[in-house]
Amino acid sequence: MVPESLVIVVSGPGGVGKGTIVDLLVERDPRLWLSRSWTTRERRDGEAADAYIFTDGPSFESRISDGGFLEWTEFLGNYYGTPAPDTSSLSGRDLVLEIELDGARQVKEQHPDAVLIFVLPPSREEQERRLRGRGDPNDKVFARLRKAEMEEPVGMSIADHVVVNDDLSSTVDQMMAIIESERSR
Ligand code: 5GP
Repeated sequence: MVPESLVIVVSGPGGVGKGTIVDLLVERDPRLWLSRSWTTRERRDGEAADAYIFTDGPSFESRISDGGFLEWTEFLGNYYGTPAPDTSSLSGRDLVLEIELDGARQVKEQHPDAVLIFVLPPSREEQERRLRGRGDPNDKVFARLRKAEMEEPVGMSIADHVVVNDDLSSTVDQMMAIIESERSR
């Protein structure tokens, strides 16, 4: 990894709004570079074609064997992974990863200086409303809510910063302030 680049890991349970938050962060600050993950999950209706690199199991597994991931995990039956960053495309910018907790933990182990920001929903009801709003089927909604119950205490204990995503624009302001303060450390 480029020594002067920060690695900013945004993690938190499904439906907390991580994707929207990181999109707004990179829109606001051109010094941030958002990594695009690989996944074997099916693309959702209405989901942008470039939300992920959508791939199949054998291609994902062959990239694992080639050592092509910075981290990867299996989440609710699908693979998700961060491609090892190409330092030339980073060109001094700070790397932003939007990943679940197991991946966040792997990144922290490899890069103890990585800044882990764990995002919480304002309530379980609001998280459920957001998951339903993006069209997840019932069983997926319940699976994600159950996973959140288990992950939140762990996430909060290993995070460098915890942010509650109640109001989107103030969440983005808080995260920008965290990033600025980490840059000046
Ligand atoms: P979704 O299916 O809702 O897009 O993503 C499911 C979970 O996988 C989310 O918590 C998301 O942050 C996480 N995720 C997305 N990309 C990656 C990745 O590259 N690595 C890991 N570990 N998790 C990821």
